[in-house]
Amino acid sequence: MEFTKEERLRYSRQIMIPEVGEEGQQKIKAAKVFVAGIGGLGSVSSYYLAAAGIGHLKIVDRDKVDATNLNRQIIHWTGDIGELKSESGGRKLRSLNPNCSVEALQAEITGSNCAELVGDCALIVDAMDNMKGRRVLNAASIQKGIPYIYGGVHHLDGMVTTFIPGKTPCLECVFPGSDKEPYSAPPGILGPAPGVIACIQAIEAIKIILGMPGLLAGRLLSFSGYDITFREFKINRDPKCAVCGSGASADSRD
Ligand SMILES: [Zn+2]
Repeated sequence: MEFTKEERLRYSRQIMIPEVGEEGQQKIKAAKVFVAGIGGLGSVSSYYLAAAGIGHLKIVDRDKVDATNLNRQIIHWTGDIGELKSESGGRKLRSLNPNCSVEALQAEITGSNCAELVGDCALIVDAMDNMKGRRVLNAASIQKGIPYIYGGVHHLDGMVTTFIPGKTPCLECVFPGSDKEPYSAPPGILGPAPGVIACIQAIEAIKIILGMPGLLAGRLLSFSGYDITFREFKINRDPKCAVCGSGASADSRD
């Protein structure tokens, strides 16, 4: 895959980075990434991934844009209110980078369709707003053996980590048990907080594609916008985990 002159220019500032280079940029171009949700987190992660030259982005969201989204879901604009988020987001991403093939689908991601939706994407970026959906992503990640980059936000705070099947804990190891939401819904969110978390998710996604070390694997990074601090927690695999460990049954992987 040769780059066009336009692509060479477009990506020149990241091709300069030794860990990227032309070879890395080719890997980015060949990559297929699944972004689950195009709200506060997905607006930002998908935007940076498209800008970076990810060859194929698959974005899935069930909702329409409404006025309460606009303080943080920056891919959607005032004129998009009432439009499907998948369409609004897909249009912006294609306009940002016509080299990026964007597949934008309106769907609710469930246990029965997730594996099919993820398809042959090489990694999952979590941009959902509920634990039930995240558990579905986690199960698909384990089933397919592909990385799952978790992100979540609340008020001015957020958390992010990268789950790599067979190497790190999975979501269930860290947040075991139920679909109970940690916060009342809908949670208050200051717009830039998901921006911070989603930027880290996008960096992780690109590093995974490039095969770079230093991932947030086995480390849960917690951000507080209240005092602008990052704290890191070591997270461990639960050998009895119901999804990735001995507690797993065929049912729990559906
Ligand atoms: Zn697990």
